[in-house]
Amino acid sequence: MRYDVVIAGAGPVGLLLACELGQAGSAVLVLEQAASPDSPLKRLPFGLRGLNAPTLEALDRRGLLDAVAAGQVLKPEKGPPPPGTAHWLSQGRKLGGHFAGIPFALDNVDSGRWPWRLRSPVGTQMAVELQALEAVLAERAQALGAVILRGAGVQSVRMGADEVQVEAGGQAFRGRWLVGCDGGRSTVRKQCGFSFAGTDPEFTGHSLSVELEDPTVLSPGRHTTAQGMCNFNPPGTIALADFDGGAGHRQPLDRESAQALLRRISGREATITALHLATTWTDGARQATAYRRGRVLLAGDAAHVHSPLGGQGLNLGLGDAMNLGWKLAAVVRGEAADALLDTYQAERHPIGARVLEWSRAQVALMRPSAGSRALAAIVADLAETRDGATYLAERVWGVGQQL
Ligand SMILES: Cc1cc2nc3c(=O)[nH]c(=O)nc-3n(C[C@H](O)[C@H](O)[C@H](O)COP(=O)(O)OP(=O)(O)OC[C@H]3O[C@@H](n4cnc5c(N)ncnc54)[C@H](O)[C@@H]3O)c2cc1C
Repeated sequence: MRYDVVIAGAGPVGLLLACELGQAGSAVLVLEQAASPDSPLKRLPFGLRGLNAPTLEALDRRGLLDAVAAGQVLKPEKGPPPPGTAHWLSQGRKLGGHFAGIPFALDNVDSGRWPWRLRSPVGTQMAVELQALEAVLAERAQALGAVILRGAGVQSVRMGADEVQVEAGGQAFRGRWLVGCDGGRSTVRKQCGFSFAGTDPEFTGHSLSVELEDPTVLSPGRHTTAQGMCNFNPPGTIALADFDGGAGHRQPLDRESAQALLRRISGREATITALHLATTWTDGARQATAYRRGRVLLAGDAAHVHSPLGGQGLNLGLGDAMNLGWKLAAVVRGEAADALLDTYQAERHPIGARVLEWSRAQVALMRPSAGSRALAAIVADLAETRDGATYLAERVWGVGQQL
């Protein structure tokens, strides 16, 4: 069988795209490398994700928001937040968000300065678990006819004039179009010769789930230190930024090396008695120079990667899926010329570039150098002002995004 669209990757972006295409009647196959949708990295506390205004509005328009909100992590009626979720979310003070760990207060944000923004019942922020979000999207995609094949990682791609041939999990598949939603290390992007331009990492981010002999040795919350940044969410969730040029990325950590790292970055004599889970990430920031090559398109992390600071990547990718879905469906149905797909690049690439710059600016403020510390103090003062908080909210909540 030849599908209208083959999607590589059943992450949140691939799944939302499958929903959009399925809703418009396209025959969709989603090929997913992982055999199971279950992963400790997608569950709390590591799987905590912040959704912003454009995402919430998109989910609302598709009738998905109630199901997503049912799994919301920090609903007031749910009582205290689950152990290990982000400390700033569990503080009494009403925070609007943060920029490089510099908080801005909710009541300092003047939403009257966004006259273009229509009244919306959905709010501007929601914390969810990635795995729960994916489950909602997968259920909807399948209800709309999409086939999701797990344990079928894309290995090779052959681009033809009329179709794309894909080898995945030892089988061959055909589609009129292929969309790579297969994450930051995208096989589709590499196989199809997309160029991925940007900047190398300055730091390695470490997310750790640990047991500490004495958790009071560490101060809860996010702290810039002489060696980087330490964000401690009691009882045992820790994020560390080590300005090592990314050398620690994907290097295995055992309990001893995790403890040495924690002591070096935090500057505290913390003792780890058990290491449950550890993963790394970096602030490498890269973006595909083109989002389309012939019959192959990219969306989500496959098209752009950057540090997770400020929680933008998922929202950016879901915006890609919303923009691309109806256009690709219209082309598949013969109701629009291929040229419509070029507007996907024209509209989404600048938004992606802006998010990459936003993440780079945060890295510049986080560096442990004296100059960055001085600059961060000034930005903290500005964040306390009404103008500053409103500016930051506009960017972090995505309300200033034009598309
Ligand atoms: C610690 C951390 C915190 C974050 N917090 C936030 C936040 O609060 N808000 C926010 O907006 N963003 C956040 N992000 C970023 C966000 O998680 C990503 O941008 C988002 O998950 C990207 O979605 P995606 O579907 O494009 O890619 P992914 O989520 O990476 O999904 C890609 C899928 O493709 C599959 N795959 C890989 N290779 C293949 C292959 N060859 N064939 C088939 N399938 C393949 C993978 O198994 C995976 O299921 C955070 C990221 C990290 C690391």
